Amino acid sequence: MKSKLVFATNNAHKLKEISAILSNKVEILGLKDICCNVDIPETADTLEGNALLKAQYIQQHYGFDCFADDTGLEVEALHGAPGVYSARYAGGEGHDSEANMKRLLKELEGEENRRARFRTVIALILNGEVYQFEGTVEGNIIRKKQGTFGFGYDPVFVPEGYTKTFAELGEEIKNRISHRARAVQKLAEFLKSRT
Ligand code: IMP
Repeated sequence: MKSKLVFATNNAHKLKEISAILSNKVEILGLKDICCNVDIPETADTLEGNALLKAQYIQQHYGFDCFADDTGLEVEALHGAPGVYSARYAGGEGHDSEANMKRLLKELEGEENRRARFRTVIALILNGEVYQFEGTVEGNIIRKKQGTFGFGYDPVFVPEGYTKTFAELGEEIKNRISHRARAVQKLAEFLKSRT
C-alpha cells in the first residue's frame, strides 16, 4: 500500500504538479483532503521558519507526515527584500501581484543592479524527523512588465540564460527550471530513496 503524505497547501495547481512527480511512490493529500480549512499562520521571518511552521501545524493537529513550502523573491540591491514578505510587499492582505510589482519597480528606479533570485524552501516532517530542501533560480528584474502567463512577479523576472520573463516563457519552461521545480525535485529524490 502507498504511504500517505500531506502537502500543506490549498493551491490545486501546486498539488497537481507535485502529485504528478511523486504519485508512483506516495499518495499526496492536500489540506482539503484532510478537512483542514484553517489558514495556517505564517508568522516566521524566514522562508525556512514559515515552511516549518506549516508542516508542524499539520503534523501536530492531524498526525500526518507532512511537507510545506514557502517562496520569496530576493533582490540583491534591496538586501534580499521582499523575501519572506513577497506576497505582502505592497501591504494590505497581500497577494496583490500588480501592486507588489509596482512597488518593486519603484524601489528599483534608477538602480543598475537588477540581480534577483526566487528561492523556495520545503520543510518535510517524516517519522518525527525534520528535513529541508531548497530550490533557487537566479535572474534579473526588468524595468517594465512583460508577458501574461504565470503569477506573482513572473512578468518582471527574466531567468538567467533567457531573454524573456517567466510570464513570456510559459508554464512548460518555467516548470522545468523554476525554484519550486528544483526544490520539489530534491524532495522527490529523497522520498524515492526512502521507499
Ligand atoms: P508562496 O510561498 O508560494 O505562496 O509564494 C509567496 C509569494 O511569492 C507569492 O504570493 C508571489 O508573490 C511570490 N511567488 C512565489 N512563487 C512565484 C513564482 O513562481 N513566480 C512569481 N512569483 C512567485
